Amino acid sequence: MSGEQGKKVISAIKGTKDILPSEVRLWQIAEATAREIFELYGYRELRAPVIEPTELFERGTGASSDIVTKEMYTFTDKGGRSITLRPEYTPSVVRAIIEHRLDLQPQPLRFYYIGPMFRYDRPQKGRYRQFHQIDIEVFGEKDPAIDAEILEMAHRLLSSLGVTGVFTLVNSVGCKKCRPAYGQKLREAALAVKEQLCPDCQRKSELNPLRIFDCKVESCRALAAGFPRITDFLCEECREHFKKFREYLDLYGISYRVEPTLVRGLDYYTKTAFEIVTEEAGAQNAICGGGRYDDMVREFGGPDLCGIGFAMGVERLLSVARIKVPERSFVYFAYLGEEAKKESLKLARNLRSEGIECLVEFKERKMKDHFSRANKLGAEWVLIVGEDELRKGKFQLKDMTKARQFEGSLIELASIIKGKKILETG
Ligand code: ATP
Ligand code: MG
Repeated sequence: MSGEQGKKVISAIKGTKDILPSEVRLWQIAEATAREIFELYGYRELRAPVIEPTELFERGTGASSDIVTKEMYTFTDKGGRSITLRPEYTPSVVRAIIEHRLDLQPQPLRFYYIGPMFRYDRPQKGRYRQFHQIDIEVFGEKDPAIDAEILEMAHRLLSSLGVTGVFTLVNSVGCKKCRPAYGQKLREAALAVKEQLCPDCQRKSELNPLRIFDCKVESCRALAAGFPRITDFLCEECREHFKKFREYLDLYGISYRVEPTLVRGLDYYTKTAFEIVTEEAGAQNAICGGGRYDDMVREFGGPDLCGIGFAMGVERLLSVARIKVPERSFVYFAYLGEEAKKESLKLARNLRSEGIECLVEFKERKMKDHFSRANKLGAEWVLIVGEDELRKGKFQLKDMTKARQFEGSLIELASIIKGKKILETG
């Protein structure tokens, strides 16, 4: 694309998006609601860097996962190190726990984080290369009650943001004890229909047949539906955990469906895996995915600390959320002349100290033009600062929404503005 002067115009990188002011309030509300809810459950924020050593994800996310094999943003830095823009958050948290010996603190540890993730996905609706996740993790809690509690928390967040028509899919993917025998049966089943699978799944059938369940190709999904089911192979401990988990979900009144083909795209899950999906059709209907990862900390050379968590995609969340954005209330200054302008600057400074949003524009305007400008901007209040007002030290305040006008000193008017705010926000 060329600009006005024939110069090449630079646009945003494919699969990334600017979040413009017209949209950003929705993001702010979603983020603030998430923080508020997570803190109610005892979670604290943990902020990790966007860049990490590539090895962290190769080992954590897993060498056979789609993320590591196809989707990572990896580059070599000036010091020759292999760096990756994080595609998911869990490995970073595990690294931070081990690095700062957070395991020495009383457990369970509960963390949350909201921020951008990066994956070289094929850009389309609901699928971006820089996208955002709301992420929570709990470490050091074996009790299946926590598995249900995090789902209850996710549902609370969704309903607070007006998301309806979602349902929950749950599964158990077993553990080190029961999965190998299942893996063997699964591999046999996959190899028996190998020619009918997509090239990707043909590879997976040798490498890690569990990953076939993750494939989005319809014919592979249909074949996978007939494969042996992990839930028929669970060991005593995993079976009991899965049963208890469902009991606690019932206690919360969360309806769910056991989906034996749900394995999630990450290699590290053990026992519980779940997804919250919207009823809208299509491959991009998963808003939230999560599960347990009881071996991950140890596999990173850390202590024996079990973990569980979920990640919610903010773009997908907002596409189904119904958030009421409160109207912005601000005072527009309609002044005439240099002296009134100076007075306006001082008045605005004082009102802002009272927590009132003010807008003083510097283009010279007639009173009529001030009002049409204020209307266009959607100002709730117009403060008139003219010669008369300057002399009297009393100003006219017009309520643009109710066509009423007040006269008073700045202090009086400030309390009118704040009074209305309080009345309206209840
Ligand atoms: P999908 O199967 O849709 O590719 P995933 O299994 O790769 O999802 P997770 O790694 O579990 O997803 O990430 C959790 C959530 O993050 C997803 O449920 C989704 O809401 C969101 N998400 C994942 N990848 C993207 C993306 N490329 N763009 C936007 N949101 C995404
Ligand atoms: Mg994916």
